[in-house]
Amino acid sequence: MSLLSVNNLKKYFPVKTSLFRTSYVKAVDGISFSIEKGRTLGLVGESGCGKSTIGRTILFLYEPTGGEIIFDGNKLSSSNISSYRSRMQIVFQDPYSSLNPRMTIGDIVGEPVSIQSSKISRKERAEIVLNQLKLVGLNTDHLNRYPHEFSGGQRQRISIARALTTHPDFIVCDEPVSALDVSIQAQVINVFTELKQKLELAYLFIAHDLSVVRHISDEIGVMYLGKMVERCPADELYKNPAHPYTIALLSAIPVPDPEVSRNRSRILLTGDVPNPMNPPSGCRFRTRCSYAKNICAEQEPEIKEISAGHTCACHFCGNL
Ligand code: SF4
Repeated sequence: MSLLSVNNLKKYFPVKTSLFRTSYVKAVDGISFSIEKGRTLGLVGESGCGKSTIGRTILFLYEPTGGEIIFDGNKLSSSNISSYRSRMQIVFQDPYSSLNPRMTIGDIVGEPVSIQSSKISRKERAEIVLNQLKLVGLNTDHLNRYPHEFSGGQRQRISIARALTTHPDFIVCDEPVSALDVSIQAQVINVFTELKQKLELAYLFIAHDLSVVRHISDEIGVMYLGKMVERCPADELYKNPAHPYTIALLSAIPVPDPEVSRNRSRILLTGDVPNPMNPPSGCRFRTRCSYAKNICAEQEPEIKEISAGHTCACHFCGNL
């Protein structure tokens, strides 16, 4: 059984366009996926495609507009989500703004413990905090320091330690390495990978770059303007990408081997992501797709299974 199942999830944000008219930004528009215990779904796409909104809607930081979220066999709602908060955590992109600058690291990491149990003694809390810090590669010396005394990578480790304090089964990692130097990104991803193996954690790992999610993900979903356009096991996505958008994202990743690079099909992405309040008719990617035909403007492509566990939403999947 899946730990988390998301079925036809929708999140629309109302926008007042005139005195009497409200339009909607369909940030997430009918997304479905599931994640098993100890597994990772990487979610990629450009800024504004809805991936962070999915993470926040799953945790009810945003109220869903439609669809259902099942966690450990139970349907989540705004009335029961508080019972699952400790088991479902989030690590944000910017560790600097998500850590209170006036609190010591000991207090930041220990705060969720105190919220969970007011009866816990100071000594017990300190032990828990220390264990969490050790798990992410920090130590006792760091307990009484403040966030500004740490590097970006260390601050993100502190955010991870705080998320772990309540012993979650599932963590939304919302672009956790995007704000870090490339040299530090791999170290922080390694922390996530080690914790996943040690604690059997499930992640929804959000990034805008396919190279970031490659090694941590078991499965990858590619999003474009609120829709999941392709989803499959991670290796399969890099070997046999089927959707023109995925191929375009992959061609943006530099390949060290010149032969592989020469033989790789390239689709260059031009222009910006269209306004989500007024997305293109038919296939939402058609205004930037070099394979677009008349049918692409007329009919929205269905999600098709093109091989076992590999789905793609394009009229010409497998025939490009
Ligand atoms: Fe491109 Fe048409 Fe496929 Fe959309 S449906 S990705 S526009 S070929």
